[in-house]
Amino acid sequence: AAPFDVEHVRRDFPALHQSVNGHPLVWLDNAATTHKPKAVIDATSEFYGRHNSNIHRAAHTLAARSTDLFEGGREAVRRFLNAPTKDDIVFLRGTTEAINLVANSYGRAHIGPGDEIIVSTIEHHANIVPWQLLAQATGATIRVIPVNDRGEIIFEQYAALLSGRTKIVSVTHVANALGTVNPIAEIIALAHAYGVPVLVDAAQSSPHMPLDVQALDADFLVFSGHKVFGPTGIGALYGKSALLAAMPPWQGGGHMIEDVTFTKTVYKGAPEKFEAGTPDIAGAVGLGAALDYLESVGLPAIAAYEHDLLDYAQAGLAEVKGLRLIGTAREKASVMSFTIAGQENEAVAHHLDAHGIAVRSGHHCALPALRRFGVDQSVRASLAFYNTRAEVDVFLRALHTLPRH
Ligand code: PMP
Repeated sequence: AAPFDVEHVRRDFPALHQSVNGHPLVWLDNAATTHKPKAVIDATSEFYGRHNSNIHRAAHTLAARSTDLFEGGREAVRRFLNAPTKDDIVFLRGTTEAINLVANSYGRAHIGPGDEIIVSTIEHHANIVPWQLLAQATGATIRVIPVNDRGEIIFEQYAALLSGRTKIVSVTHVANALGTVNPIAEIIALAHAYGVPVLVDAAQSSPHMPLDVQALDADFLVFSGHKVFGPTGIGALYGKSALLAAMPPWQGGGHMIEDVTFTKTVYKGAPEKFEAGTPDIAGAVGLGAALDYLESVGLPAIAAYEHDLLDYAQAGLAEVKGLRLIGTAREKASVMSFTIAGQENEAVAHHLDAHGIAVRSGHHCALPALRRFGVDQSVRASLAFYNTRAEVDVFLRALHTLPRH
């Protein structure tokens, strides 16, 4: 592969080249959402501008073209995850909807009173609340893997939580508020020793590292298009064929049936069984373009580049007076969550915005994770492969010039 050239890839992202508050934009809010390469913008615009049709149910040419493009997006997701077949890929609105689908379909079929669901302390709310709703409806219990002071899960305590009562383990690959990379392959292997399936929330790992559902032996894996440089409103669930085949539909409607009478409906197989209604067709096409783009840049090269950039940025943060980095895992990706003594988080974010720098302040939809560290808010700067050392320098300089009270 060609060596990674950040200046070259930056040219592919129109939104990066603008001024904000009189300064060149420095986008460090990638954990919330990412900017889109021109290939994605063009694919989406061309879909609406030329091909636009509903899919799957017409003899006409534009319907066939749109269906091919939509299914092409599914094939791109299959390749991205190295899934065995594209029938294992369900298009949904994103990570949130995908976890809700698994909780409502797999969960309602397999989880009952006294059963246990394991999550970790450092989950996004999207991987807590759907399980809580399921637990409330079924009488199941949520068990939580604790983390150490670096924000790493304590593996022995995970092992101690697993038992014959465990019905599913649902954990994040990379923690959105802390950046911790979980030892996901080991987590899965241990769950499997108990015959327990694992859902991997790959919302924060998918933009930063290669994924391989077969190598991981993941049972379910979910991610969002908008965090991998694709459109909002589209994401995907991977599920093992046998699991998907045995799962009941969650939502009902058009596209997902073989036959309907008023007494009985015969469903199609996966993935259509889980795709009731008209999907985000342009979104799927745009997501396919984003994943093709990522493949052309190369995720191993991206991972190596970002690792170096994160080290550089964290070394700089250590020099900022009063700054406390929250989440110091030995394996980290992209995210720097911090507070600064004597500064309001939101004021820090506004100060940075005045310098054209976009970061997030707040709870990052991960309140239990932050509370583990005695805060319920932080400032979060998060990197992508299009960020540069020069941008990190601008960010660090702005932190050094915070008005001190
Ligand atoms: N899980 C994690 C780890 C996330 O970072 C996010 C997005 N912040 C989600 C789930 C939810 O993703 P979405 O809002 O795209 O459904």
